Amino acid sequence: MRRAASIQLHPEALRHNLGVARRLAPGVPMWSVIKAEGYGHGLLWAAEALAEASDGLAVSQIGEARALRAAGFGGPLLVLQGPRDVAEARACAEFALQAVLHDAAQLDYLDTASITLPEVWVKLNTGMNRLGFAPQVAMDVDARLRAAGHGHDGLHWMTHLACADEPGHPQNARQLERFAMTVAELPGQRSVANSAALFAGWGQGGASAAPGDYWARPGIMLYGAHPASLPAGRLPEGPDGDLRPAMTVRAPIIATQPLEPGSTVGYGATWTAADPGRAGIVAMGYADGYPRHAPSDTPILVQDRLCPLIGRVSMDMLAVDLSGLPEVQVGDMATLWGEGLPVERVARAAGTISYDLLTRVADRLQPGN
Ligand SMILES: *Cc1c(COP(=O)(O)O)cnc(C)c1O
Repeated sequence: MRRAASIQLHPEALRHNLGVARRLAPGVPMWSVIKAEGYGHGLLWAAEALAEASDGLAVSQIGEARALRAAGFGGPLLVLQGPRDVAEARACAEFALQAVLHDAAQLDYLDTASITLPEVWVKLNTGMNRLGFAPQVAMDVDARLRAAGHGHDGLHWMTHLACADEPGHPQNARQLERFAMTVAELPGQRSVANSAALFAGWGQGGASAAPGDYWARPGIMLYGAHPASLPAGRLPEGPDGDLRPAMTVRAPIIATQPLEPGSTVGYGATWTAADPGRAGIVAMGYADGYPRHAPSDTPILVQDRLCPLIGRVSMDMLAVDLSGLPEVQVGDMATLWGEGLPVERVARAAGTISYDLLTRVADRLQPGN
């Protein structure tokens, strides 16, 4: 069913933001991460916008990589979760996918299928405790893969930081150090940095790592959201902060309500007018992917003015305070995030992160213009 809210996508923003990533880490090849339907923008749309300007594309799962191959993408593809069974191990070979190997079970799948892959990335768990081999077994994994016929040219090493969005967090130094020490004597490429780590200056693995052949893995920044945990409303100044939104979400105002002092708005009557004013009812709710827990005062853009959300978000609607904007009428559009209103500001107000907002609207809204 057609929803009133619409998404506008800006492909040139993706390429601009990839340029920002390249300025942050000159000479570092970039895997553009397009998992989770291109962070909610559409897998193929993101691939199309980024493929040529990137050194490769990264997804989570084999199925996503196969969809990209089926759509004709012939370039390097990295699968961040690697194969989940023997059939997926075979698919890695058949579709020339670069698999991340993070668990011994995956080495068994390759053995069972008698498959050697030209390029694999061994993931090391340096402290996030999500995916990866313990650093102590790195040499064993290396030996086992070589014994199975994987060449050293194609055996690469990666890790993922738990706290890159807080550059001063001591966990970062610990993880970077552990990774640098573990891979110091191992040949192959390395990869550490997501978007936040690029902003922290760790595209080449951080201070203690010998400069080498590092790849970066930017995701969220390509879509225009700054990854760092910055104080509310503050964005970095200068070229580093020059990210452009790849998605703008808009919805029409479908009603207005005059408010008296003491009038309440919405379910639970959680917001009360102090002065005479006017509420605008916007056709965007949690069924459209707007965060239900966004509190009153979450910013919404109406006619170049930031107006506060008022009252609880409903399934298909929310209310915005239009006091001081007498010229706004039914039929005018409100911007929920995107051009003029960075998604991370809305996310912060709603107690979540931009990734959550962007991926929630996937497939729900109509492409707009
Ligand atoms: C999602 C992901 C990235 C990209 O992270 P961003 O914070 O979006 O830049 C990089 N590496 C891995 C392993 C990931 O899962």
